[in-house]
Amino acid sequence: MSEYINSRLSALKAYVPGEQPADMDRLIKLNTNENPFPPSPAVLKAVDCSAVTSLRRYSDPTCRLLREALARADGVKPENIVCANGSDEILALLFHGFCEKGAAFPDVTYGFYSVWCDMFGVEKKIVPLDGEYRINIADYAALPQTLFIANPNAPTGIALKKSEIAEMLAQNRRRLVVVDEAYVDFGAQSAVGLINEFDNLVITRTFSKSRCLAGARVGWAIAPALLAADLEKLRSSFNPYNINSLSSAAACAAANDADYFESCKKAVIENRAKLSAALTALGCKLTDSSANFIFVSLPDISGEEYYKALRKRGILVRWFDAPRTRDRVRMTVGDEEAVTAVIKATEEIICELRR
Ligand SMILES: *Cc1c(COP(=O)(O)O)cnc(C)c1O
Repeated sequence: MSEYINSRLSALKAYVPGEQPADMDRLIKLNTNENPFPPSPAVLKAVDCSAVTSLRRYSDPTCRLLREALARADGVKPENIVCANGSDEILALLFHGFCEKGAAFPDVTYGFYSVWCDMFGVEKKIVPLDGEYRINIADYAALPQTLFIANPNAPTGIALKKSEIAEMLAQNRRRLVVVDEAYVDFGAQSAVGLINEFDNLVITRTFSKSRCLAGARVGWAIAPALLAADLEKLRSSFNPYNINSLSSAAACAAANDADYFESCKKAVIENRAKLSAALTALGCKLTDSSANFIFVSLPDISGEEYYKALRKRGILVRWFDAPRTRDRVRMTVGDEEAVTAVIKATEEIICELRR
């Protein structure tokens, strides 16, 4: 460490993202919840020669076309949308600028929430999930902090119903609730319909998971107009050209291709059912996932052993070494080939390690 970093940040522990290994082609990569399918063919057309030529200019700081496309897709107005360099950037702005009373979130959730608190000096209130990894809404009733609820939650995949999100919003209408809907398209109910009813709701979404564009780094917020304007002010004060023009063109094309979106989503949901059924039949324990990943433990085999044994067979998954997660691994739902490979590997691992 140099002597120049602010003393408040000298002890900061950075978020550790899932690996992006160089020999990716030889591995079945199920560690970062990317989509197994390529982007929509419309994306390939949109990122053409003229899009590359236009890189000479700055990108549109208002993200007009993208906000219009998203407003159409989400059934809201463009003034309800704020675009960012991945939903991570939106979340960072929310931790930075909307957490005067601190931030509250579950003990088992997206690991970045805690890092942003440390980064921006936000006090955290960690609320344990129950023994089945479920959120108990009543635990949040008296909390004044800004709430961060991933729905479905990660790495559990368990979703709250829209009515339960409404209940949390109604617990205290002067408390902001951020609903991180990174995985909502894979089977959970969105809270979007609640933004006209509640002033204290922000939803974050991303092109990284269900839209097959993780590398483009595009996310967005959906919020009541006043809140969206505040968020937009912070965005413009930090990095007004936060979406590059190639990513913007790619995201617009993806947002407008509803058919492709539906077909990828459907395939992932079917593969999740197939994978879950096969692993359950082998005696594995799974949470009820509404996301594009499963959270699974093997009988009598630790999460670390399972992770390592899969890795030896060329399958990369995520293992979180913390008291409540170390028995399990989080595994992205891949394409059919990946699902078949995971089932076969798991059968072998159970035979081998249980002897
Ligand atoms: C992947 C993920 C995000 C961030 O996605 P971006 O790629 O930054 O849009 C946010 N929240 C959760 C829970 C995630 O898993």
